[in-house]
Amino acid sequence: MDSATETKSLNFLEQIIEEDLQKPEYNNTILTRFPPEPNGYLHIGHAKSICLNFGLAAKYHGKTNLRFDDTNPSREEDEYVESIKEDIKWLGFHWDHECYASDYFDQLYEWAEKLIIDGKAYVDDQSAETISEQRCNPTVAGIESPFRNRSVQENLDLFRRMKAGEFKEGEKVLRAKIDMTSPNMHMRDPIMYRIMHISHNRTGNKWCIYPMYDWAHGQSDYLEQITHSICTLEFEVHRPLYEWFLDQVYSEGTIRTKQREFARLNLSYTVMSKRKLLELVNEKYVDGWDDPRMPTISGFRRRGYTPESIRQFQEKIGVAKRDNVIEIELLEYLIREDLNKKAPRVMAVIDPVKLVIDNYPEDKTEMFSVENNPEDPEAGHREVPFTRELYIERDDFMEEPPSKFFRLGPDREVRLKSAYIVKCVSYEKDDDGNISVIHCVYDPETRSGAPMSNKKVKGTLHWVSTKHAVDAEARIYDRLFSDPDPAGHKDVDYRRFINPNSITIMPNCKLEPSLLKAQMGIGYQFQRIGYFCLDKYSTPDKMIFNKTVGLKDTWAKQR
Ligand code: ATP
Ligand code: MG
Repeated sequence: MDSATETKSLNFLEQIIEEDLQKPEYNNTILTRFPPEPNGYLHIGHAKSICLNFGLAAKYHGKTNLRFDDTNPSREEDEYVESIKEDIKWLGFHWDHECYASDYFDQLYEWAEKLIIDGKAYVDDQSAETISEQRCNPTVAGIESPFRNRSVQENLDLFRRMKAGEFKEGEKVLRAKIDMTSPNMHMRDPIMYRIMHISHNRTGNKWCIYPMYDWAHGQSDYLEQITHSICTLEFEVHRPLYEWFLDQVYSEGTIRTKQREFARLNLSYTVMSKRKLLELVNEKYVDGWDDPRMPTISGFRRRGYTPESIRQFQEKIGVAKRDNVIEIELLEYLIREDLNKKAPRVMAVIDPVKLVIDNYPEDKTEMFSVENNPEDPEAGHREVPFTRELYIERDDFMEEPPSKFFRLGPDREVRLKSAYIVKCVSYEKDDDGNISVIHCVYDPETRSGAPMSNKKVKGTLHWVSTKHAVDAEARIYDRLFSDPDPAGHKDVDYRRFINPNSITIMPNCKLEPSLLKAQMGIGYQFQRIGYFCLDKYSTPDKMIFNKTVGLKDTWAKQR
């Protein structure tokens, strides 16, 4: 351990683990798991769980299993399994075993029969609604099912027939026989199995009864001999049931898994439940799970976020036992910091207008050598062509600029980045009254880096030579929701808060020619504009860039 980590105080999970590691049964190591249900793509909240589970294992020289919690075939798909694996790898983590709860269906069934034989489970013929009503509420004792005292023989027979497919969905369930008066509602004879005549991605038609979360999850942990089963706070009330089930199957000499809970990640201006994210996809509010406005890991990736920035985010927010909301600006700040270190600088004009240097030779091209990244001397230089006709940003020119506008206007001077100082002498308009050409003159003595070039002007503009410009489309994103907590309004659907202007397409961008070689997965700083990356739909004929984040640091100001 280096001194930096040594001085940092341990979080509550690390304290628990360090205490446990004193005990001989742990053999000085831990085994954690990340247990997604393959019913959607992973979101940034899952990234917290991933960083925690894999991070703790790495810190204590342990391992982490990836376990697909595939116990509900009605909503699970292979596409999700693949996307989950891709996202975890992209975040930079490697699992030990790839496990599936469905691999334990035989064992779970065998244990369920054992519970029946021990008089601790029974088949109930009532509907799920009735069962739920009979649970009453924590201050009122529940009502026992009329089927609660069936004989072991009858229960075994019925359960076997449930498995054999003799009953319809909803006709019967298997319940644990615990305590209908418990103040903990989860202990009021929870359902262990339900009938579902649905084939499963992995087990096909072998099963028509499927285990419920509480029955499958803890036993899967135990079968894999997970030492620490870390989950989100809403499962704290399930812990007594987790322990009760474990009591039924535990045998001496094995690791008894510990469930421990932490606060889930909530992020401002977004929703973070797979069900809602699926609605956004199905109802076409977004272009798929990896739409750059989605809070999914694949969405952040397509938007241009780096795995480092997401891991850094989890590190910064730490792990707590109380729920809270993290501001999206923190994530934006971290990706900006990361890209500032890494991103090559380029010149790209998003909303172009033509600028002609009247006194520059018509067929001359100068190549200016420009630093790729002033933050990174290793990044080297590239050549950028300069000619008489250029594009600049439309909003870098004003016909009647106020005095604080340090860009171009009639008779005003600016520096063209890495090139010359130019002065605007006139401009033309098209039939609609829009500026179409800006005429300037330049002074050859003001060339960047030349001895006479220390003439001072207030503004520096980026530009692209018209003759060399590469066409592209840029997609500029705003928040998907206009409310900081779209899902937090009582009686108002979160979809009411969808921002109708969350994407702006800039179809006529002009890029410096080096961007012809732009690569997927690399962030580029379009100077003075922001960070951009190639979109997955980009082709050499039609380049498409996504804006990752702007240059302005609104977060630093807030701090
Ligand atoms: P959702 O509620 O978004 O549908 P889930 O909890 O149903 O998510 P799972 O696939 O069951 O999704 O989650 C896998 C793991 O990720 C679980 O251990 C879960 O506790 C954890 N997890 C899910 N959402 C968050 C979150 N927002 N913050 C931290 N961990 C989370
Ligand atoms: Mg879940």
